[in-house]
Amino acid sequence: MNDKILYRAKSYVVNETPLYHDCGRLCDHCCCHGDDKTGMELFPGEFEMENLQQCGALHGNIFVCHGQCDRKHRPYACMIFPLFPLLAKEDDGRLNVHLHFDVRARSLCPLTFAQLRPDFIRSVRRSVLVLCEDEDYRSCLLESSEKMRDAIRLNSMLNLPDLCSF
Ligand code: SF4
Ligand code: SF4
Repeated sequence: MNDKILYRAKSYVVNETPLYHDCGRLCDHCCCHGDDKTGMELFPGEFEMENLQQCGALHGNIFVCHGQCDRKHRPYACMIFPLFPLLAKEDDGRLNVHLHFDVRARSLCPLTFAQLRPDFIRSVRRSVLVLCEDEDYRSCLLESSEKMRDAIRLNSMLNLPDLCSF
């Protein structure tokens, strides 16, 4: 994996926040306090690149943290939460990029139906487009998009309200 691409993508979102104030105050930072079975998906090599061994453990490609980390070096998935990039390849080869609320946010994040900062959404989109410049990141994102689409379909079968996409 190309470290420079991931650093560049992260540079767009490292200082971004979904709201104008610290949204963690709304929920006591609950997305950072999961159990030892829930975590965030990392890109291959991201664990070593950000020295994340200091704040958690890697299980396959899922990082389970201890609930604290160096904000500058947090995983990309944490930087863009509660959004999730949904990529789709059109028949003509073009790539469509949508941002969707992460379905896992539904049960824990009070922002699920809130108005997010437009700058946050814009920066997340820019960072995803940077990742898409690289074939390896693009493949990872396409793969994780399929998993998220399955989860969205399942939510729909359960008649849960649709989450926003941008
Ligand atoms: S759960 Fe949502 S509101 Fe709470 S800290 Fe995480 S992103 Fe912010
Ligand atoms: S790695 Fe950091 S930002 Fe991500 S969930 Fe853990 S404490 Fe929160």
